[in-house]
Amino acid sequence: MAIVGAGHAGGRAASALRDAGWSGPVTLIGAEVHTPHERPPLSKEVLRGAKTGGDCALYPDDFYRDRDINLMTGTTVSNIRRSTREIELSNERLVPFEKLLLATGAEPRRLDVPGADLDGVHVLRTIDQSRELAARLTPGARLTIVGGGLIGLEVAASAMQLGCSVSVVEVDERVLARVAPAAIAEYVAKRHQDAGVAFHLNRTVTAIAGEQTVSAVHLDDGTSIETDAVLISIGVTPRVDLAQRADLAVANGIATDATLRTEDPNIFAAGDACVFMHPLFGFPIRLESWKNAEDQGPLAARNMLGADERYPSVPWMWSDQFDFTIQVAGLPGQAKTIVKRQLDSDAIAVFDLAGDGQLIAVSAVGPVGAVARTVRLGQMMIERRSYPDPEALASPSTNLKALMRQQAA
Ligand SMILES: Cc1cc2nc3c(=O)[nH]c(=O)nc-3n(C[C@H](O)[C@H](O)[C@H](O)COP(=O)(O)OP(=O)(O)OC[C@H]3O[C@@H](n4cnc5c(N)ncnc54)[C@H](O)[C@@H]3O)c2cc1C
Repeated sequence: MAIVGAGHAGGRAASALRDAGWSGPVTLIGAEVHTPHERPPLSKEVLRGAKTGGDCALYPDDFYRDRDINLMTGTTVSNIRRSTREIELSNERLVPFEKLLLATGAEPRRLDVPGADLDGVHVLRTIDQSRELAARLTPGARLTIVGGGLIGLEVAASAMQLGCSVSVVEVDERVLARVAPAAIAEYVAKRHQDAGVAFHLNRTVTAIAGEQTVSAVHLDDGTSIETDAVLISIGVTPRVDLAQRADLAVANGIATDATLRTEDPNIFAAGDACVFMHPLFGFPIRLESWKNAEDQGPLAARNMLGADERYPSVPWMWSDQFDFTIQVAGLPGQAKTIVKRQLDSDAIAVFDLAGDGQLIAVSAVGPVGAVARTVRLGQMMIERRSYPDPEALASPSTNLKALMRQQAA
């Protein structure tokens, strides 16, 4: 069993192979020098100095030795030889496989403008990149973030908490356009503004200025933002090059069926790199979330060993910023009807209903307790393919648990 990509999904897959009773060889190969780890703290606690990169490890170092997992860090796979079932490392060494998992993750997109390669211009995906960015975030430093998505806004919150001043440039007319409904984005933007974050919406970056180190970011309306550091946070591109070179089907990710198997029965994919047929929605989706990596790594591992499990979960993700949390379950952005519900304490939820009234997504923002309760119930309703009454959903006096039971009856 071989796994390319010793990140979150790859690490969990290696462990799951042993949990499922596989006693033959397991090789886990990763380009990074760090052992498999979780990334969410990299824009939060690690950036703020409350955790180290080492604290993010999925398992202690001796875990791999104890479970006889051949972990090869700092090693890049350059090719897959499907006909002979071997993978080729960048040092030309060959590793044979019976089944192969591609858990290669995704690469931060760069900005194609003059000055994008200046010192002080950062992207954020790895422990090392988090450390480099953290070194810039000294009290009083000015940070400009290009991209008002989840990671950009998490970094904005962390930087404000570190005493920096922060500007966010967003091409859309609102933040979080790709991941959360407008009412959630409004709440988030207001909390950032109240904390002092400056937003430049509907704007693009035309150039990044500086001698050797960045000193300003120029926008398309002529605005110039003086800055000490820039974070480019404009999304990621799935790493599909290995699959592509091996002639595997690639769409917006490495294409698999609902069991995470590619068109080659011996090759599977999981995590951010994988676009899979979602059994609940009936069309292919690619997810970029902790929960997806957490679930798909082990699921792919069990299927590599002959199981035939389909990906069961309703997509779920969270983001922590300042003292509030955002959670999203399902697929927002495709609703015909949007229902807003005020939760107790300072929290709101938004339910997305399809044209036929089926609940397809729930999102909430605010203190974690109210958010988690509501999203969990919404997630169960999505799983059960519910058609809740929009008025009942909107009314704070409706008990959601009762509504869910009613739906099931
Ligand atoms: C800063 C940050 C904050 C986040 N916060 C949240 C959050 O709050 N909530 C949430 O739900 N999600 C969050 N995420 C998303 C979540 O961390 C990812 O979805 C998850 O890490 C994906 O796991 P993966 O295994 O698919 O990819 P990765 O963890 O990126 O692992 C892929 C690995 O493959 C390696 N690799 C690629 N190609 C090769 C090759 N050819 N040879 C060898 N190795 C290779 C890479 O080096 C990498 O180590 C965050 C992500 C980031 C970057």
